[in-house]
Amino acid sequence: ADLGVRNISYEGEECEFEIDKSSLAIIRDPNKCIRCRRCETMCNEVQTVGVYSAVGRGFETVVKTAFDLPQHDTSCTFCGQCVAVCPTGALMELDQVDKVWKALNDPTRFVVVQTAPAVRVALGEGFGLEPGTIVTGKMVSALRRLGFDRVFDTDFAADVTIMEEASELVHRLKNGGRLPILTSCCPAWVKFFEHQFPDLLDIPSTCKSPHEMLGVLTKSYYAETYGIDPKKITVVSIMPCIAKKYEAARPELGQSQVMPDVDIVITTRELSRMIREAGIHFEHLKDEEFDDLLGESTGASVIFGTTGGVLEAALRTAYEWITGETLEKVEFEALRGMDGIKEAIIPIAGRDYRVAVTHGLGHARYILEKIQTGEAHYDVIEIMACPGGCIGGGGQPYHHGNVEL
Ligand code: SF4
Repeated sequence: ADLGVRNISYEGEECEFEIDKSSLAIIRDPNKCIRCRRCETMCNEVQTVGVYSAVGRGFETVVKTAFDLPQHDTSCTFCGQCVAVCPTGALMELDQVDKVWKALNDPTRFVVVQTAPAVRVALGEGFGLEPGTIVTGKMVSALRRLGFDRVFDTDFAADVTIMEEASELVHRLKNGGRLPILTSCCPAWVKFFEHQFPDLLDIPSTCKSPHEMLGVLTKSYYAETYGIDPKKITVVSIMPCIAKKYEAARPELGQSQVMPDVDIVITTRELSRMIREAGIHFEHLKDEEFDDLLGESTGASVIFGTTGGVLEAALRTAYEWITGETLEKVEFEALRGMDGIKEAIIPIAGRDYRVAVTHGLGHARYILEKIQTGEAHYDVIEIMACPGGCIGGGGQPYHHGNVEL
């Protein structure tokens, strides 16, 4: 990459349509569009965002954004589900691998990496392992060999999120705040909500998403404890998610414009590529552990990666805080499974709590419209943009649209 090989390979190529690089997450190259319209189906029918439409006539038709607007100026949530189903690479994530190599090759930078829960169960697919094989130890080992100074676990911050969201819920219940409280760890869902439901903006939780929390903890608490200048720290997040690239660039998520909480986000697919570029034989690596302190976590944080996990984890904590008792059975089975909308009534200390879990933005729209019209009432709702939750994120190994909804 430092030799600039990728930059010259297609020089001189004639492009009929302009490549759209406006967004901070998705690159759109209509020249590669074969008019299969999978992106349009995924965006309009499954996610109900409606960014794409077929523009032109007959063989001239390509799928573009409405009014051919730059992607950045549309209501695109950057969930990346269009990228996950595009068979030709006409839609791709914004590639930030070179930025990571550059930081790793800069001796003045202290480069910290963190990995989301859904990455460790999908990364192995990039190396021929069965889908679902857990490769946490090999992943940590590979990241050390790539040259990261510290390997942390986003699960640590998922635990922090649980404490924050549970305390916000308990606070609203005690002090009469507006319900339902909505989870806020999915940036695509947050952007969807900002565009489509501005009248409900006061109900989501105020928590940052877990990787942003870990970023800020690294550049504040960790930097202070170990005497590292936070300006010299580069935080790289490995995520199953394309929207997190856009999220990390949001100006409010950082201590200043020059010091964002997270500097670079790459997807599970991009990490697979880095490991291959480095010539590492992933399957032969020995398991290693995350680094102390921000590599510690509980079992509750691990279930964040799948639909229902965030709510189940927050309810476990809220239950113990409300009742003062230890929860004997920690599984909330009604919240598990792949139904698009799951609802349950959870009795806690003599009160019935109405909770719901949705994944896929079409399901989120359905439930939020019912809240707007007063047809449905809930205390807490978990919403994730991607089908199945982060495990089905737009940055995971390609599944070619083969998803059960
Ligand atoms: Fe990203 Fe997960 Fe939200 Fe998908 S569900 S956009 S992977 S945070």
